[in-house]
Amino acid sequence: MIKQLSCNAVAAVLHVHNSRMQHYDTIIIGAGAAGLMCAGTAAGYGKSVLLLDHVDKPGKKILISGGGRCNFTNRFCSPANFISANPHFCKSALARFSADDFIAWVKQSGISYHERSHGQLFCDDSARDILDMLLQPCRDFGVRIATQTEVLSVQKKECFMLKTSRGNFSSDTLVVATGGLSIPKIGATGFGLKLAESFGLNVIPPVAGLAPFTFTGREKDALKALAGISLDVRVTCRNHTFTEAMLFTHRGLSGPAMLQISSYWRPGDALLIDLLPDRDTAVFLHQKQQQRPQAQLATVLSECLPKRLVQLVLKNYPGENRLRQFSEKQIQELANLLHSWRLKPNGTEGYRTAEVTVGGVDTDELSSKTMQSKQVPGLYFIGEVVDVTGHLGGFNFQWAWSSGYAAGMAIATCTA
Ligand SMILES: Cc1cc2nc3c(=O)[nH]c(=O)nc-3n(C[C@H](O)[C@H](O)[C@H](O)COP(=O)(O)OP(=O)(O)OC[C@H]3O[C@@H](n4cnc5c(N)ncnc54)[C@H](O)[C@@H]3O)c2cc1C
Repeated sequence: MIKQLSCNAVAAVLHVHNSRMQHYDTIIIGAGAAGLMCAGTAAGYGKSVLLLDHVDKPGKKILISGGGRCNFTNRFCSPANFISANPHFCKSALARFSADDFIAWVKQSGISYHERSHGQLFCDDSARDILDMLLQPCRDFGVRIATQTEVLSVQKKECFMLKTSRGNFSSDTLVVATGGLSIPKIGATGFGLKLAESFGLNVIPPVAGLAPFTFTGREKDALKALAGISLDVRVTCRNHTFTEAMLFTHRGLSGPAMLQISSYWRPGDALLIDLLPDRDTAVFLHQKQQQRPQAQLATVLSECLPKRLVQLVLKNYPGENRLRQFSEKQIQELANLLHSWRLKPNGTEGYRTAEVTVGGVDTDELSSKTMQSKQVPGLYFIGEVVDVTGHLGGFNFQWAWSSGYAAGMAIATCTA
């Protein structure tokens, strides 16, 4: 019988049988960056919206982002800043709600912000400003936010029917905005990926991205001795290169350069690290050889690199090493060593500290204009649960805003 009724009629019938069943135009699972953006957009166009989350407060990741100041977007955002099996997928949504659009909203909301390196924009005061800005339209347009609500089951008949720990709900459209797998202790789960699979959608296997590298054995001990040292490097892996700071930690390597390359790194890969990206080391050593032939190699290299790092890199050059001892070929070998330091991590710190998840719902399954499933009408996936991952620098939030807006607008104009 249910199949012959319209969606609202089903909701009405169910309401009779279960006084807790309530019907909405859309239900969004996940009150994070993308979910909030989508909720405010759809509600702004008169849609009734229920925003569910299993944790106690919306936007927890926003609050801890950017060291508490939220790197909310990037002035130079372009599709090239995103990793996806289909690099073209993100283009439409990014064009329809761009970094400039978000910046205009931030300005209009009176939030003061500043620019750091590489076009990264951060709040002057607190990430809370961005969360409040996203919550404002939700309040103004009557979005119902239900926190501490576990989704127990999702079924699709003429409409979506959800059993939750706080009652049963139905909706014409369902948006999955449950984010990635990183930082489970503040609410990350694989729920969205499992839901996608249960509806027959393909999922690109997830891996931790923007994560520090770990090492084992002698390499770990050697790097540990350098903990706290930071320097600008150029790192390369799988034909991708980043020139940013690298930080030695007690577990291995971190800092922006390492986080960026970790999103491309796969087990077994080596990293090629240029420790002196702005210098021609062979020329530099030749000059020093002419000027100070008696000088120690380590002393000269310590002019441009931290001393402890020089000791580690020169471990194969024990004893006294005066510059005059070195032939041209040896100088070139030394330069190569410093410009192509090869290290093989045994892994990353994983989802415990990763900022993002690479992989997710296969973009082939979704419309790039609306984020709606091609197979399951009315089902949308937005934000990090989708196989679109930004580089470090505000791009992941921009994807959350752009994809959330795309789905919100599609739902706003949907007449189902
Ligand atoms: C420490 C840290 C710092 C970061 N800093 C930045 C930054 O400065 N700039 C930037 O661009 N990106 C940053 N990121 C990445 C950025 O936070 C995410 O890419 C972004 O939040 C993704 O938005 P989302 O809405 O898809 O997911 P989220 O914001 O993670 O929201 C997902 C929501 O879904 C909820 N949820 C999960 N499972 C369920 C379930 N089963 N039932 C109900 N609800 C569920 C979660 O509780 C959460 O509220 C950072 C990430 C981390 C971890």
